[in-house]
Amino acid sequence: MGGTSVIGEMAEATAETRVGQSDSEALATLHRVFGYEAFRGEQEAVVDHVVAGGDAVVLMPTGGGKSLCYQIPSLVRPGTGIVVSPLIALMQDQVDALRALGVRAGFMNSTQDFDERRVVEAEFLAGELDLLYLAPERLRLEGTLDLLSRGKISLFAIDEAHCVSQWGHDFRPDYLALSLLGERWPDVPRLALTATATHATHREITERLNMPAARHFVASFDRPNIQYRVVPKSDPKKQLLHFLREEHPGDAGIVYCLSRNSVDKTAEFLSSNGIEAVPYHAGLDAGTRAAHQSRFLREEGLVVVATIAFGMGIDKPDVRFVAHLDLPKSVEGYYQETGRAGRDGLPSTAWMAYGLNDVIQQRKLIQSGEGDEAFRRRAQSHLDAMLALCETAQCRRGQLLAYFGQDPDPAGCGNCDTCVTPPETWDGTVPAQKVLSTVVRLKRERGQKFGAGQIIDILLGKRTAKVIQFDHDQLSVFGIGEELTEGEWRGVARQLLAQGLLAVEGEYGTLVLTETSGSVLRREREVPLRKEPKKPATARSAGGGRGDRKPKAAAVELPEELLPAFEALRAWRAEQAREQGVPAYVIFHDATLREIATAWPTSIGQLGGISGVGEKKLATYGEGVLAVLAGLNGPATAPVPDRSSAGTGSGADSGSGVDDWPENEPEPEPDDWI
Ligand code: ADP
Ligand code: ZN
Repeated sequence: MGGTSVIGEMAEATAETRVGQSDSEALATLHRVFGYEAFRGEQEAVVDHVVAGGDAVVLMPTGGGKSLCYQIPSLVRPGTGIVVSPLIALMQDQVDALRALGVRAGFMNSTQDFDERRVVEAEFLAGELDLLYLAPERLRLEGTLDLLSRGKISLFAIDEAHCVSQWGHDFRPDYLALSLLGERWPDVPRLALTATATHATHREITERLNMPAARHFVASFDRPNIQYRVVPKSDPKKQLLHFLREEHPGDAGIVYCLSRNSVDKTAEFLSSNGIEAVPYHAGLDAGTRAAHQSRFLREEGLVVVATIAFGMGIDKPDVRFVAHLDLPKSVEGYYQETGRAGRDGLPSTAWMAYGLNDVIQQRKLIQSGEGDEAFRRRAQSHLDAMLALCETAQCRRGQLLAYFGQDPDPAGCGNCDTCVTPPETWDGTVPAQKVLSTVVRLKRERGQKFGAGQIIDILLGKRTAKVIQFDHDQLSVFGIGEELTEGEWRGVARQLLAQGLLAVEGEYGTLVLTETSGSVLRREREVPLRKEPKKPATARSAGGGRGDRKPKAAAVELPEELLPAFEALRAWRAEQAREQGVPAYVIFHDATLREIATAWPTSIGQLGGISGVGEKKLATYGEGVLAVLAGLNGPATAPVPDRSSAGTGSGADSGSGVDDWPENEPEPEPDDWI
């Protein structure tokens, strides 16, 4: 995947001549500033390459550690690192998190007044900034470009680089102008970073940002701590409530719904059932949205119910679950949205309720939606891939990774519902024929088309008002399907739709045959179906799961005797966060507090050895943390010596926050259709 052009090789050659120097300096910066033991995965290679002046396209999953890839080179190279990010509303949090680490960071965007901006400009020109965050629409202004050319720039980091792609729902026209950076600053290295995994997007990023010489770094897209689960949808709000009460009491998480209306209703439903939840969608005014996302970042255990307008770049590390009440439109979307869970590496759940109506609605939406035939075909194939993921009897993680062109473990992952409770399959050929025959007879004998509900009523021999009205009890297929329950028939219809053996037509979502339906009716092909589980698997015992104990938020896997220390540290952290008006994770991550509770340091030296405790944080909070521990009953186990590390540590977040679409930018909001 390496950059093969001449310039790419030149960049590599430069890297080699400087590698010794950048390497040790980068590592020293990682220890000193961030308090981390070692680089992760591709980070070191990216950092070395960029420190030496090379361009890079970095593809890493959410939580993979993209921020360090540009933060460390910005600190090591002379000048200011310019970070281009669309996430205006949370730049403040990002900068706060960096300042808490002692990094000289600033931002410029439309939320600032003239004076605030002048201060940042002056700092930049005086060489007093390590990092400067800018929105793309600001960067392209001639005034900004002029300012930048009067200062010293160490690198350009283009975050959320997939925004350059016209096909994704995150497309930002201002990103296209970023291709000019290379012409204007040919000697300044550029990094494009994204968590979007498809090859088409990689190609587009490289082309549109004009980075032919960039070296590509592709991390594994597996998120082993996320457990993937899909349950058959019956009463989604109640199913969600049950899931949250059983498995995530007190945890922070995101619930995605397709329509604004269902967002509002679901948030109300959860709140009235004792789960603190707030809505987020484009129909709410900007102030309410900002307040809700800020609460989500600052409070522990808040649930946000949202449309897909919420979440890009959100870097709250302890989102413990992402739930989908409606089917996402594509595997890419599903992967991005579920990826917001568990950035801290601790066990998290991606849970989805999915049913017959999802398939019908999505198919309808594509048919009646805007766009030309090519657009519709693409939307259709995206949906088909998503349906295949929902209906698979194989490992879901394996299917996800294969979709992104990566090699899954052939033995399965052990941490998804299909691995934990392998679904049974059965021969559904005869039931499939019954459904298809009913569709045929309605058409042929009556010239009618009906939706799935009526067809199932006919098969079950139900004399509903609508059945009587249309004399459907006179059809020869009336009552021929009493061997299955209504739920099972819905499962059959859903799978026929998902397999393309049945199609949806028109405004009312009537069922019609497809080109392949005939082969089933003529008995030329069998129809294997997935059995609808009686009771959806909760997969509690899965690898990476949380055991049977019902843990309190974030206290997962911590021995009972350490809980008081962990809770005391959290209370202390909450106090600090309140006083400073920053999210709690800006002070210390849960993972760091867990390690402190486990190691029980009694000196500043010992505390400094814990992952996530850098120089500045040690100076700011060291005494406070030691005082909290001193006020408790002492460690239940012997203290662990200096530089102990459980390897899960993480420090202050780079903090990118939640997206805030500029006012002139339409938000990706599907029509209300529920
Ligand atoms: P991304 O931007 O790729 O989603 P981040 O840069 O926010 O991911 O990093 C995810 C989490 O991992 C953060 O909490 C970060 O502090 C932590 N992290 C990143 N790199 C390291 C490392 N080398 N050692 C320990 N923790 C790390
Ligand atoms: Zn699996």
